[in-house]
This record gives sequence, C-alpha cells and structure tokens, in this order.
Amino acid sequence: MNFSQTDDQQMMVEAVRRSSQERIEPVLARHPVDKPLPKSAMLEIYAVLAELGITAPRIPVEAGGGGLKMLDYGMMIEQLPPVVGLSLISHEGTISRIHSGCPEDIRNRYLPDLIAGRKIACTANTEAGAGSDSGAVRTKLRIDGDWAYVTGSKMWITNASVADVINVSCTLGTDENGRSMGRRVLMDRSQCEYEVRETPVMGLQQGHLSEVVFEATRVPAGHIIGEAGDAAKTLTLAWNGNRPLIGLMCVHLAQKAFDLALEHAKTHKQFGKVIGAHQLVQQDLAEIETLIVSARLMCYSALDAIDRGVRANGSSAMAKRFATQACERAIQLAMQVHGGMGISQELGIERMWRDARMFQVPDGMNGILALIQGRELMGIGAFR
Ligand SMILES: Cc1cc2nc3c(=O)[nH]c(=O)nc-3n(C[C@H](O)[C@H](O)[C@H](O)COP(=O)(O)OP(=O)(O)OC[C@H]3O[C@@H](n4cnc5c(N)ncnc54)[C@H](O)[C@@H]3O)c2cc1C
Repeated sequence: MNFSQTDDQQMMVEAVRRSSQERIEPVLARHPVDKPLPKSAMLEIYAVLAELGITAPRIPVEAGGGGLKMLDYGMMIEQLPPVVGLSLISHEGTISRIHSGCPEDIRNRYLPDLIAGRKIACTANTEAGAGSDSGAVRTKLRIDGDWAYVTGSKMWITNASVADVINVSCTLGTDENGRSMGRRVLMDRSQCEYEVRETPVMGLQQGHLSEVVFEATRVPAGHIIGEAGDAAKTLTLAWNGNRPLIGLMCVHLAQKAFDLALEHAKTHKQFGKVIGAHQLVQQDLAEIETLIVSARLMCYSALDAIDRGVRANGSSAMAKRFATQACERAIQLAMQVHGGMGISQELGIERMWRDARMFQVPDGMNGILALIQGRELMGIGAFR
C-alpha cells in the first residue's frame, strides 16, 4: 500500500490545480456568485477541461477518451471548483453512456464535440416519484415507426439548461411480469422540443439544476439507446464511481475552509494572544483536519477498489456518506473558528457550507447510502 502520489499523479494534479486557479476560477469570479453561469462561460470552462483531458476520463484512449484510472481522476477532480466538478461528472457520465450504449453513427455524431467541450451533455433520471427509487421512472416512451415520443417530467437535472444533448430515462410500460420496461433516449436540443426551468437552490448557485418537461417530444427511434432493462446496471456502475468523486468535491471545500481557519487562528487575537493558542481552538483545528484526512482517504480507497476491479458498492456508498457529512461538519467548525466572520458573506465560508450541503442529495442520499452499505454487509436489501 502506497500513500504517496506517484510522479505522474503529482503532475496531473498540479496541471489541474494550475489550470483551475488561472483559467477556471477567473471565469467564475467574473459572474455573480448566486446566478447560474451563462452558457458562454460554461463553454470557456469546458474548453479548459477538454485540454486537461478530463471530459471523457472513463472511456478508453482509442475511443478518444482519457482512459484514466478512477483514483487519478478523483485526485484531479478534487482540485476543481465543486460547481464545475458536479457539472463535469454529469457531462462525462453521459459521454460514457453514449460510448457504451449507442450505435457507431450516433457515437460519431456526438462524441467528438462533447469530448472537445464544444457541447455539453447531461443525464435525466429523477422524477417527483422516482428519486431514491430510481427504477420508478414514469416518463413514457411511445414508439411509432421511425419516431419515438417522450412524455413526462424530470427534476433536479444538472446541466439541463445548458446541455446540447440530454440522456433521458423513460419507460415503455410494464412487461407480463409487471416489471417496468426501462429505456433511455438521447435527445439533441437543436432537434427536440422540451421545456427547461431552472430551480433556485441554497448552494452551488453558479451551477445549473433544472426541471425538464417533455410533451410528446419527438425523437428519431434510432436515438433509443442501450439494451432493454440495462438502465439500473449502467446507473449503478456510474454511481459507484461518482459517489467518492462527490465526496472529494466536499473535501475540496472543507480543505479551503480549513486553510482559511488555520490562517485566521494564527493571526486573529483575543485575550491577549492569537486564538490558535487557546486549547479549544486547537481542538477545533485538529478535529477539522481529522475529518478532512479521513474523508479524503476513504474516497481514494473506494476509487482504488474500482480500479482494482473489486466490488465497490459498499465502500463507495460509505465514502460519499462519510465525506459529505464530515466535510459539512469540518466547514461548520471552520466557520466557528472565524467567529462573526464565519457567517459573513464577505469571507465566503458560509457559501462553502451551503455548497457542501448540496452534495448530500445527488447520487444517493445518506439514508440510501447506509442501506446500500447495509445490503453489502447483510446480503439482504432493506429498501422496501
Ligand atoms: C445538486 C444535485 C444534482 C443532481 N443532479 C441530478 C442529475 O444530474 N440527474 C438526475 O437524474 N438527478 C439529479 N439529482 C436528483 C437526485 O438524484 C435526487 O434528488 C435524489 O436521488 C433524491 O431523490 P428525491 O429528491 O426524490 O428524494 P427522496 O428519494 O424522496 O428522499 C427523501 C428522503 O427519504 C429517504 N428515503 C427514501 N427512500 C428510503 C428508504 N427506502 N428507506 C429509508 N429512507 C428512504 C431519503 O434518504 C431522503 O432522506 C440531483 C440532485 C441534486 C441536489
């Protein structure tokens, strides 16, 4: 077991850190912190992500992807502003689905622009009654000759308002055993009519989270992708990878808050000495560091398991549940170390806390993640 980064990992991490500081953060800084970024700004960011080779990390180099190990990708995503990281995993996850589930003509038509960051993609699964229960999708698919028609609505879809391509999970109804016949449909925004409404939320406010409404939206039947009923398997594989990645986005936020708290503790004085010289403040600092280091290691360990081909359903659920909670707590403590400044909008730690809280919802809420881990331990599902 090796706990230090290899030379290659150091180089990749440094390249992402530098590009993020010099080329991505300035784009975010030019726009209001509480409004979704315009598409033009997103495309500027995606051009940088493409140059870094992380717009398609999970597909092989021969297919135009990055062919990255998940651990390496995780270390890189940890360097990005989390609002960018979340958008990226929606985009590249959709690219992986197109790569693995679409015929060659569709791959050739969409993948080059998506990988080059000239177009943006997303995946829409969640509905009002199909959140944690992702198999309960009700959005209807009707096939009529060369065309298919989609009717229903999706909620909380990352990137939807800026996406050129949207991968929508639907159902053809139920089979003779009462099982839903799930299908996925690839929609090209320039050819399909649907309505997208941005949803105001507490954090990650420069990002895009939308409701999408389809009213008999017409798509070529050739855009129905994947095998019948393979959606659950595809989603599980994607989630296993995404969960520790989301944990690392929270680690990014907590580390930033910790760096600020440490500096503040070394310079701000009360009772005639710097506050970091008081025992209780040192305890807070020690606690914050412990939470961050354990969260980071747990996420790395889950990603490494995926790279080694070891079943990671439990470890990846555990990593996201622990990291999102630990980092939220770490940021709260960093706010505490700052006293009144901790809750001021001027410093921005309160924004980090709001951003971190957002990550407890996508790709498995904490209760669901505990049930996934429990199922691995017991061999018994306790969902229903
Ligand atoms: C930032 C963000 C990005 C997102 N991006 C996307 C995206 O790109 N695409 C997409 O499709 N969706 C996306 N989502 C949606 C997200 O996946 C869902 O919101 C999530 O799955 C929870 O579903 P829900 O909101 O319907 O809550 P529910 O599933 O209704 O959960 C409500 C509560 O009930 C609990 N609960 C549910 N079932 C059980 C059970 N069996 N046992 C015990 N407790 C249970 C949950 O733990 C939770 O506490 C995103 C959400 C957010 C916040």
